[in-house]
Amino acid sequence: MSKRSLEMLENVQLDVWDIIDELRFEYQHSSNFGINPTAFSHKNDTGDWVMSCCPNHAETRASFGISKEPPYHTNCFYCGYLGTLDKTVEIAFGLDDGEGIKLLLSDYILEETRAPIDVDGIINDGRERTTIPFLNESELSKFDNSPSKNKWTYDVAMSYLINQRGMTPHTLNTYGIKVDVDNECIVFPQRTRTGELRFLQKRKIGSSYQGAKFINEGSPIKKDILFGLSFINQLRTSKNRIKRVRMVESPLDVMSNYQVGIAAVATNGKILFKNQIRELQLAGVEIVDTFFDNDKAGWDATVQATNALVRAGFIVNQTLYPPQFSRSAKVDSNDLLKLGWLDKLESKPVSLLGYNL
Ligand SMILES: [Zn+2]
Repeated sequence: MSKRSLEMLENVQLDVWDIIDELRFEYQHSSNFGINPTAFSHKNDTGDWVMSCCPNHAETRASFGISKEPPYHTNCFYCGYLGTLDKTVEIAFGLDDGEGIKLLLSDYILEETRAPIDVDGIINDGRERTTIPFLNESELSKFDNSPSKNKWTYDVAMSYLINQRGMTPHTLNTYGIKVDVDNECIVFPQRTRTGELRFLQKRKIGSSYQGAKFINEGSPIKKDILFGLSFINQLRTSKNRIKRVRMVESPLDVMSNYQVGIAAVATNGKILFKNQIRELQLAGVEIVDTFFDNDKAGWDATVQATNALVRAGFIVNQTLYPPQFSRSAKVDSNDLLKLGWLDKLESKPVSLLGYNL
């Protein structure tokens, strides 16, 4: 813990309760996921501390406390680990020393509409402005030789996408989907609204893999990223401007909708962040049809996103699953694509759906 990070943390107001939810969500994509898959779950508030499962070892009870007050000390009552929140972020995400504080400041503070502090200035001593780093395009194009490098693994991945998921080669090409044959992953490029490559989302091929199903490479800052939004942004000033999008969870959901002619963006998870809402506005989107997965978590995501979008001034509809799918059945855009129903769904204004907004 550097003295400098401690000073920075002393001066910021963070909502530890909310941050733990986000840590838990993002931790699923961390290379450290295998250390303790339950890390940051079983959250409870003891007054001064928010307790959750420790990211340093496997456990199912909440031994790991994060102080609700600056500078956000952490203390594991099981393993004795002492630290601060920025170090926890580094452990959880496998980041280098000093990166945790940057992630916290840029990702959590910038989201305030009235920025209480000059984050850029703090990070760089006021000398220069910080920009979030992006990946060089060569980090993606290097996978172009995957078919010749390992044809068998490449074919397994493509067979999964085309035969099992119903993707066309045109769709895969449009969204720049690649195969990392060395790590046996399908690669989904995640871009900012303006098209910069922010991170690569890698999904393990098949089901017999060790550790996390998803591995991310590149910047850990993702709260402003919506998969697919860069295409919509490109059309913003053209006569083909897209004002209405379907909001889904995953890149495959986006591509499924694209294939039936519906413009879609993915939140890459179950939480719609304010930074993502701002990017939607900047891309010229005015109407959002929510279409999260049909399970309980997807329903919670629908309510959260609807509230946030309505407050931000969007017209919000909910795209409805066919009535034969109960909420307990896990169904998504890709399943409906394969059934031929994805472009035949009804969307209803949320005002007619009895939302408690
Ligand atoms: Zn511990």
